Amino acid sequence: MKIREALAGGGIEMREARLLLAAAAGFSEAAVLAHPERELPEGVARRFQDMALRRSQGEPVAYILGRKEFYGLELAVSPAVLIPRPETELLVELALARDPASLLELGTGSGAVALVLKRRLPRARVVATDACLAALCVAQRNAGRHNLQVEFRHGDWFEPVGGERFEVIVCNPPYVAAGDPHLAELKYEPGRALVSGGDGLEAIRALVPRAPAHLAPGGWIFLEHGIGQDAEVRALLSGAGLESVASWPDLAGIARASGGRLKSD
Ligand code: GLN
Repeated sequence: MKIREALAGGGIEMREARLLLAAAAGFSEAAVLAHPERELPEGVARRFQDMALRRSQGEPVAYILGRKEFYGLELAVSPAVLIPRPETELLVELALARDPASLLELGTGSGAVALVLKRRLPRARVVATDACLAALCVAQRNAGRHNLQVEFRHGDWFEPVGGERFEVIVCNPPYVAAGDPHLAELKYEPGRALVSGGDGLEAIRALVPRAPAHLAPGGWIFLEHGIGQDAEVRALLSGAGLESVASWPDLAGIARASGGRLKSD
């Protein structure tokens, strides 16, 4: 089968078909584009058709390829972890702007945020927790691959960090409301990383009150949240005694991250 025929027969969007075919064949996408008449070995054609079928059934490209790029870092992903999303780059920006010497990420998943921060802040001590061991395995693999020294710890939210304090804490918690129709599109991703009670705020409500005990004086916590949750998240942050509480817009101008600061001594 020729490249052109395989692409046309995939039954999926052409751009994604080229990406999957390139991965199946071990070619670059440019080569796929430049040589439509090239004959594909049978095994490659079959591998591509299998990937295209999975894609046509709704499986995300990142899981089919087993990788996703985040903030310039190529990361391995599996169905144990949320696929890193461009909107989460806002959390990275907020943390980088504080130039912290110590940093904690809660619920690290693939390790995306913690690893990008460690790469940008090589002198910072970076600790990352997750309640899911399978996710930590993915994160650890990503750390090894990029040779980044992040301390990964297993447990719920702050549970694995005892009495330690950090200059910045970042978290992209689950924040989708159970029953949100949008979840149907996310069915391949781990529900535990997405869904948080009836209003989506259960995790944020549980972890914000515990943040001050883990912040250094003047330290900041930044949380990603859903559209329309900013006022409630700010109220929770203020309720926990944090100062300078604010929300920040994503590239679309929508408030998608909020944070606050522990007062300095
Ligand atoms: N941004 C994701 C979505 O809606 C949700 C991620 C999360 O819950 N942390 O698709």
